[in-house]
Order: sequence, then structure tokens, then C-alpha cells
Amino acid sequence: MEKQTLFQFLLLAFRASSASDVGSADIGWFWQVTDFHYDANYSLHGNPSTMCHTSGGDKYNNGIYGNYLCDSPWRLVESAVNEMKSQNGTPDFILWTGDSVPHVKDSELNLAKVFENIRKVSDQLRDEFPNTTIYPVLGNHDPFPSNQMSDAMQYYQGVLNSSHWDYLLDEQQQADFIKGGYYSTVTDYGLRVLGLNTNLYYNMDKVTVMIWDPASQFEWMWNQLVDARQHNQMVYIVSHVAPGAFERMIDMTWFYPEHNERYLSILREFSDIIAVQIYGHDHTDSFRVLYSGPGLPVSSLLLSPAVTPWKSTLPGVGANNPSLRLYKYNRKTGLVLDYIQYFVNLTAANTDNQTDWQVEYQATQEYNITDLSANSLHKLLMSFKNDSSGYFQKYLVYNSVGYDMNPVCNESCVRAQVCAIEKLGMKEYKFCMEGKHHKTTDIPPTTHHPKPHKKVPQYMFYVIGTLAFVVVILFVVIMMLCISRRRHIAPYRRFSTSLNA
Ligand SMILES: [Zn+2]
Ligand SMILES: [Zn+2]
Repeated sequence: MEKQTLFQFLLLAFRASSASDVGSADIGWFWQVTDFHYDANYSLHGNPSTMCHTSGGDKYNNGIYGNYLCDSPWRLVESAVNEMKSQNGTPDFILWTGDSVPHVKDSELNLAKVFENIRKVSDQLRDEFPNTTIYPVLGNHDPFPSNQMSDAMQYYQGVLNSSHWDYLLDEQQQADFIKGGYYSTVTDYGLRVLGLNTNLYYNMDKVTVMIWDPASQFEWMWNQLVDARQHNQMVYIVSHVAPGAFERMIDMTWFYPEHNERYLSILREFSDIIAVQIYGHDHTDSFRVLYSGPGLPVSSLLLSPAVTPWKSTLPGVGANNPSLRLYKYNRKTGLVLDYIQYFVNLTAANTDNQTDWQVEYQATQEYNITDLSANSLHKLLMSFKNDSSGYFQKYLVYNSVGYDMNPVCNESCVRAQVCAIEKLGMKEYKFCMEGKHHKTTDIPPTTHHPKPHKKVPQYMFYVIGTLAFVVVILFVVIMMLCISRRRHIAPYRRFSTSLNA
């Protein structure tokens, strides 16, 4: 409790100072909220081993704000959005990174229920933030059947019309969105936001297996990044599933290998204009560092934990406390300067019949870094490899949003964490997990995309033509000189030859 009071004091001091530092007009705030997994069938008396649904028995007493074994009841969704509003009701924008639909069997859902589920969350955010731009992206639980994201236009049209994303996206964004759940937009301060649908690369998606460019998103993304570079815009990559591996498991990667490599190659190609990448999906609090070579960090990927407390069915993964994240950033460069991680202790909330959201930590202070750039996260990662720094132990507590306050991480657990953060390429990750060094660590694979040809200025053709002409003339002159020299020398040769004889 004392710790929290200290945090709140620090937060106030931090906010007070933020108004005066780095030219306050350039400093902005935005929210990320992710993985609500709202379950309309959550019941106070449902069986926790069947997602707190009464179909599994009704003799139980579940908390009004949720159960660590189940997805979010509506009361938790409302509480989270209300908390966002009370902490900062006028952010520059909100990133909503997907997964509104609960972890239930497909037999319990249908497309209409899925749309309805997303709509309820969408309306809640829009009603509480009527004047704030909300950038939504889809999660792997948002299509029907679950994980089966395709290029079917009807589905995306349904999300726009039935889930009310047509209130969140403008006409141009909608025109892109129906092609595959992606869109591009520019913030009021000139940052380009690419809302992506990386669920298309998720290796549980049977629809996109063996498809080189599902819904043509790679091509679109490439063109957007080329365009952003031409317009000198910095870019935010916002999506649900991140590339690479899940840090809480051994050898658990998300994308199809070929999609993973292709995605990374594009990110590396444009890392100079990508300010940050922001994802959800893992439900844990983590980050990734993309490298272009050994010791060369080029991009930071921030993974925010979930609103749902649901304990994953994946072995050993565990649950988390519900969370929200508020970012501080430079509106012009896009650099993420800091973030404040909020959480609610679910057990306490259920006991007290009220949610007491608190600051869990503030990134720069807790990790002693200057910002959330790739270089800073690289420094943090290096400290994780040094036991005495203490940062890794702190990170482990935050990794589950304080669900596990005394995490024990053995050698393979440390390796899984560090390799997932450091090695986004699948081969590199595998080698790292085996404790080996890969010779070509993180060397970008060649991309199929033709690199944009650098335009040769027209005057260069004239210069080259003139030079070629001069060379030819010189050649001819030298040849003529040689021939005439031979004519002069030849009689003397004959003369000297006759003397010697
Ligand atoms: Zn999720
Ligand atoms: Zn997900």
C-alpha cells in the first residue's frame, strides 16, 4: 500500500513536470486498451472451470468484477473504460488492440453474436470518449470461427456496420478496412498510424496457410511505408498479434514462419521511420527489440497486458490482473517517452465490491531508462542478463500484472523470456533457446519487394554522355599518334638493323 502511495506521489510529480518539459506542446498522451474478452454469459454462480457459465453448474460464487479463471464480466469492461476517462479523459487518441470476444467454443457463438460482442465494447468506448479518435484493430478472437481471419469482405463490412466501427473509421479508412481489416490514417500532429490485421499471419488461421500475401496486406503495408517516407512521416504500427514468440512458453511462436520473416523484413527496411510498434494478444506485460544485426537495435515493440484476467489454458502461463496503459509521447517524432501501467487487484475489487485502480509502475522510473526507444529497451534487455541488476525480477512481477508477486523463474524460464524479447526471427529464436549463437543473427532475409529505384537526375545522363564522348575522342587521338609514331620510328629501326649486321 505504501508502495502505491509512493507511486501516486511520483505520478503527480511526473505529470506536473511533464507540462513544462520538452516543449509541452509537443508532449501528448494516448491510451492503449486491449483484450477485453467481454463474456456476456459470465455468471456470479457459474462454474469457473467452464468460464463461469451456468451451463457448467450454478452453485458457485464468483466475484462481481470477474474471476481469474474466466473472461471479463460487463462490470469489469465498464470499470476499465471509466477508469481511462477519469485518469485522462482527453488523450490525443486511443489504441484499442483487439480481442473483444470471449474464449469460448465456437459452438457457443455465431457471427451475429461476435458482431454484437464487439459492438458493445465499441459503443462503450465511443460513449465515454465521444470526442476522442479511437484507432481499433481486430484480434484473433474477433472473427468467426475464432482465429479464422480471411479476406472475406462481408466480414469486414459486418464489423463496420454491425459492430459500429463505421463510427470510428472514416470513409478512406473503411475503404481499406473491407479489403482485409487494415487501414492507414494520420494523427492531428502528423504521425501516420498503420492499423494492421496480423491475425492473418497467425498460425492457427487455416484460411491463410500457404498464402504468400493474405488479403494483400504486405503489399499494402509496403506501399504505405514508402508513401510515409516520401512524406517525411513517422509511423506507428498498431496490431493485435506481435511477430516472434510468446515469452511465457518454450517454443511457442505466433506467425507462420514465412509470414514472420516477411513481416520482419519490412519492419527492418523501414525501421528508420517506424517510431514504435504496439500490440496486445499475449495478455502479459512485455516488450520486444528488433535488431538489424548483432547489437544493433532498430525498433521497439511494446506489448500491453489485457483487461481480461483469464488464466490461459496454455500450460504454466497463468492469469493476470486487469490492466490499462497510458503512454506519454512526442507528438512530432512519435517517440514514446514513457508509459504508466494501471491495474486493479481483482481479488481486492471483488472483496470490496469496488474497483480501486492504481498505478502499478511507470516505465522510465522503474526500469531506469530514458524513453521506450529501441536503444533504451536494448539497454534494459542487457540488464536482464545481469542477475544483480534486479530489473528482471521487477519485470517478472509486472509480466503477470502482479498476479504472481513472487515469480520463480528457472534457467529455461529465463531463457524463454530473454530469447522471446531479443530474437524475433524464428531461426534465431530456436538457436537462442538451444543456447547457441546463430551465425547470421537477425540478418534480414531478402525481401521480395523491389526496392524503390532511386531516381537518377537527368543532367547525369548528359554528364555521362559527354564523358563517354571525350573518352572516345581521346582514344582515337592516341591511336592516331601511335600510328604516326610507328611511321617515324620504322625507318630508323631498319637503318640500325642494317648497321648491326
Ligand atoms: Zn486475447
Ligand atoms: Zn489474441
